[in-house]
Amino acid sequence: MAVCTGCSLLCNDIEVSIDGRRITRTKNLCRKGFGRYRSLTSDRPVPRVDGKQTGIDEAISRAAEMLRNARRPLLFGWSCSTLEAQRKGIELARRTRAIIDDTSSICQGEIVDMIIRRDIPSCTLDDVRNYGDTLIFWGCDPSSSHPRHMSRFSYFPRGEKLQRGHEEDRTAFLIDIRASPTAKILAGNFVQIPPGGDADLIDAMLAVLDGKIPKVRDKKAMISMMNTLKKADMGAIFPGLGLAYSLRGRMDRLKALVDRLNETTRYNVIPMVGHYNMRGFNQLLFDETGFINRVSFADGVDHGPMYSVVEASESCDLAMIVGSDPISSLPAGIAKALARVPLITLDPHRTLTTELSRVVIPTALSGIEAGGSALRMDGVRIEFDPIVKSEYPSDEEVLTRILEEI
Ligand code: SF4
Repeated sequence: MAVCTGCSLLCNDIEVSIDGRRITRTKNLCRKGFGRYRSLTSDRPVPRVDGKQTGIDEAISRAAEMLRNARRPLLFGWSCSTLEAQRKGIELARRTRAIIDDTSSICQGEIVDMIIRRDIPSCTLDDVRNYGDTLIFWGCDPSSSHPRHMSRFSYFPRGEKLQRGHEEDRTAFLIDIRASPTAKILAGNFVQIPPGGDADLIDAMLAVLDGKIPKVRDKKAMISMMNTLKKADMGAIFPGLGLAYSLRGRMDRLKALVDRLNETTRYNVIPMVGHYNMRGFNQLLFDETGFINRVSFADGVDHGPMYSVVEASESCDLAMIVGSDPISSLPAGIAKALARVPLITLDPHRTLTTELSRVVIPTALSGIEAGGSALRMDGVRIEFDPIVKSEYPSDEEVLTRILEEI
């Protein structure tokens, strides 16, 4: 069986036949995962230094030289690399006294941080499949972002204690600002809120739990939902980016709700992490430094918002980007700040960031051309082997060689 690295579910039941580089048969891949496998034949980058095509060795040597000479390097990306590559990346950050940050800094970092510090309870997706009878998808659209979440783990499957599945044993609610494809699946239990209305909704939910009348338009629907939530044997909350952005800096509201529910029942939180190994990077950096992201090794270990990609892009004098495309995915101000410094990029794909980079090192696609391990969105470690031979080195190999040359 192969493992799909198309999202943080890391589905490990994939069957795929490949003839040369052409996919001839697949089983269990969703449409998103199929796109990941098909990217094998996409336009791959070529090794480049200062706009000229080179060999990989020369590109690696030039990257090492630039990192050696940088005064304030920023190492960013990491959520699409294996644990083994991430470990090398953290070592490289230490050796070059760099700032290191990953994509969690601008998405689900706050929630992952609370889980790793055990400020809010979490569980595995297998626990949800077996025992999770009451679910809340919040500010997310799993049907689009993690297409097999509902079928493998959360809503549709039969579980050890939930033999009748979603027809009788499970209830799921969706809280979101728009009627997404998931809202169509959970039509009767879709709670639509205005953008940024999550904290107000939590206040209304807490009011019902305190026996008060909630300040919402449809009081009856709110009281009915809370009655269902209170009766859970085991509940799970799946926060998506919508909730993460809406409660930024106020995540104590989510904790207050979970704590209050858990006075009488048991709810766990599993964030809908996007990239396949963001959770892995957060755990590794936490184990080494006590922080999940935004760390500087310039003078021992320091942490703070000034070391997030948002602020560090303004103050760094070089950026190494690993498996990420910040120039096209981050807001224009950050992209512009990054584009003003020399960029070294490791990526299996051609992106706007590779196009703007002074040094480009093409790498193998993990899960397809490179093996290793990663942490699923619930923290479970999944290992994988390559299924095709690659002409490109893995992130781990490139980082090992840079470390040797530094
Ligand atoms: S749900 Fe995610 S990991 Fe599973 S097959 Fe689809 S893209 Fe791949």
